[in-house]
Amino acid sequence: SAPRLLGPAEIRDLAGLLDVTPTKKLGQNFVHDGNTVRRIVQVAGVQRGETVLEIGPGLGSLTLGLLEAGASVIAVEIDRRLAEQLPHTVRLMQPGTSLTVVADDALRVTELPGEPVRLVANLPYNVSVPVLLHLLEHFPSLTSGIVMVQAEVGHRLAAEPGSKVYGGPSVKAAWYGTWRTAGQVSRMVFWPVPNVDSVLVGFERGDEPGTEEERRATFALVDAAFQQRRKMLRQALSGVLGGSAASAAQALERAGIDPQARGEQLRVEDFLAIARASQPSLA
Ligand code: SAM
Repeated sequence: SAPRLLGPAEIRDLAGLLDVTPTKKLGQNFVHDGNTVRRIVQVAGVQRGETVLEIGPGLGSLTLGLLEAGASVIAVEIDRRLAEQLPHTVRLMQPGTSLTVVADDALRVTELPGEPVRLVANLPYNVSVPVLLHLLEHFPSLTSGIVMVQAEVGHRLAAEPGSKVYGGPSVKAAWYGTWRTAGQVSRMVFWPVPNVDSVLVGFERGDEPGTEEERRATFALVDAAFQQRRKMLRQALSGVLGGSAASAAQALERAGIDPQARGEQLRVEDFLAIARASQPSLA
């Protein structure tokens, strides 16, 4: 029977047909292995009839896997040639399935033709964290997801305070819920073969710990703390907490945080406490 997923031959034919030379700028590495695609779909726990958001469908490797599992897919693709081809590929290989393509930059999309409950994507690596944070901010209907990202980024997203790789992305991601790494993916399943390793990362949305205004104030503190991650907080945050180390130390003490601590030791709730202590209007 005709293939329902893209293997090396289909990827080669489609790329030839579209005259596509994958660009690094757009993080274009296409998966040509059906087993990897089915594994991602399975780890994601996609349910038949569910609406899934996919960012960067590319030639359609993962899209076809999601459709095969019975999901309705909303796919956002920045590369117009790829966005235009995708419905044709799907009609040919999996007729009767439900796909909506949005030809746009995922970082700019604030409305979608539907309410996705799950995010499943092989993200463009250069913008994976901004894309994740943007989607979580703008689409509250997204309650969980599985994404493939560069290994370093995946470990950072799932890191706990005190870990070497804990940083701004870890704290910001934790605002929205819990994150875990969910397995490695070989470089060899991509065309072209990337020069970085990949991991799957899963998230489950939780209750956000504060309001939108508090989130912005918290993220500004996180940015300041990790721009100077070797410095004590009273120093690193002096610019955003009253202009001096003394004023920063006072705000930190009001929040119950040791002014000599470093950003890499704090949970997102600690940063939120500092935001509240520094802006009485938020308390
Ligand atoms: N999902 C496909 C697969 O697994 O083979 C392709 C994944 S490839 C790593 C990333 C895809 O994201 C490319 O198709 C690229 O054109 C697209 N892309 C890059 N930047 C984007 C953006 N800002 N918004 C939407 N799509 C983007």
